Amino acid sequence: MSEQTLFEKILAGEIPSDAVYEDEHVYAFRDINPQAPTHVLVIPKRKMQSFADIRQADAADVGVFMQGVSRVAAQLGLEKDGYRVVFNTGTHGQQTVHYIHAHILGGRQLQWPPG
Ligand code: AMP
Repeated sequence: MSEQTLFEKILAGEIPSDAVYEDEHVYAFRDINPQAPTHVLVIPKRKMQSFADIRQADAADVGVFMQGVSRVAAQLGLEKDGYRVVFNTGTHGQQTVHYIHAHILGGRQLQWPPG
């Protein structure tokens, strides 16, 4: 069996996290190294490894995950001024945790292009 990722350990409560939202499908918690005044990670409870996996995943699982991301952003009060959702994927995307996670970034004017 492959070793558990950091986010599986967070989901299991083995590593503490600063939760902002949870339902039967998703869990959201504050990033430990925030890149914006609001920086929250949203993960599905049913594991996918990366954004590259979602085309093979059950569409219902993908759907409830995406709806969860939108719901968390709304709950964080980011809808008025806007926000960014980022899925770092693979090496060039600088994905470091191989459990899919949406970064929600907001609370300041973000720049484009990203670094
Ligand atoms: P990524 O580079 O897209 O794989 O993002 C992984 C994110 O997890 C980074 O933004 C880290 O700051 C964040 N992170 C790492 N460890 C923790 C932790 N224990 N609690 C919350 N966020 C974490």
